[in-house]
Amino acid sequence: MQSTTAELLDGKALSEQIYTQLQQQIQQQQPQIGRPPGLAVLMVGDNPASAAYVRNKERACAKVGIASFGRHFPTETTQQELEQVIHALNQDDRVDGILVQLPLPPHLDAISLLYQIDPDKDADGLHPINLGRLVRGEPGLRSCTPAGVMRLLQEYKIDVKGKQAVVVGRSILVGKPLALMLLAEDATVAIAHSRTPDLAAITRTADILLAAVGRPSLITADMVKPGAVVIDVGINRIEDEGGKSRLVGDVDFDSVRNVAQFLTPVPGGVGAMTVAMLLQNTVSSYNRRH
Ligand code: NAD
Repeated sequence: MQSTTAELLDGKALSEQIYTQLQQQIQQQQPQIGRPPGLAVLMVGDNPASAAYVRNKERACAKVGIASFGRHFPTETTQQELEQVIHALNQDDRVDGILVQLPLPPHLDAISLLYQIDPDKDADGLHPINLGRLVRGEPGLRSCTPAGVMRLLQEYKIDVKGKQAVVVGRSILVGKPLALMLLAEDATVAIAHSRTPDLAAITRTADILLAAVGRPSLITADMVKPGAVVIDVGINRIEDEGGKSRLVGDVDFDSVRNVAQFLTPVPGGVGAMTVAMLLQNTVSSYNRRH
């Protein structure tokens, strides 16, 4: 086992750099285009975590000069009402990106709403057309969290080509698109999930281990190959002994940092990158539409 502690991949710092670049780009383009880029974040109900995410996104938009067209709907809003709002935003020339903040209240069908978003305004990259483009290796809007992971790896010059990557988690939001993005960069990719019998045996093969599960401390030091790159996508709220709540990832940070070569902190790692990629997607739709 190596004795040095892992270098932290600072998603917060990189996201700030991306905001500065986007802000400069918008300042240059806006006089010719005649309007700023626009993003509409739709939220339904009162989930406090979702409300915090939406606030973060709107704050980041304000910082770089993206206009927010966000709307907050009461829990009892119907599918049809939301579809009408999405159709209006699809037609609205001031809007370049539309996203529906998940999860939605149980009476609403998120998948069918995602289908209603114009794929060229799909800032979250979750429309089946954009996921299909990813599968085919065609350009298109990419889902934000996996795109943020890839950008972070690139920033730290971590070459994934020919490396063994293990993605833990197979959701359509993170695990699957992340595996496809790693594959596109020539990694050898395995996907582990809740039905994988011996998780540690798989994770120990990883040169690059990526956890997107939603279980605090699932990945412990004995599950990590010494010198591996460990990317923690998980965001879990836990209470410590004093009853204070804090955010942790899926990786047992204190033990794994003694084994890994690189590690993302939570918070300040992948989460910060997700918002930066959302803004970048909005700006690239803006550019493409002009
Ligand atoms: P999800 O619940 O949709 O998927 C979780 C996946 O983990 C499933 O595919 C499941 O098979 C797998 N899994 C569950 N238990 C497991 C186990 N014991 N061993 C191995 N695999 C197991 O969740 P999601 O939407 O993919 O999110 C995963 C985590 O990432 C959550 O903590 C979420 O909050 C976080 N997240 C973070 C960001 C970010 O910006 N950093 C964005 C999205 C999600």
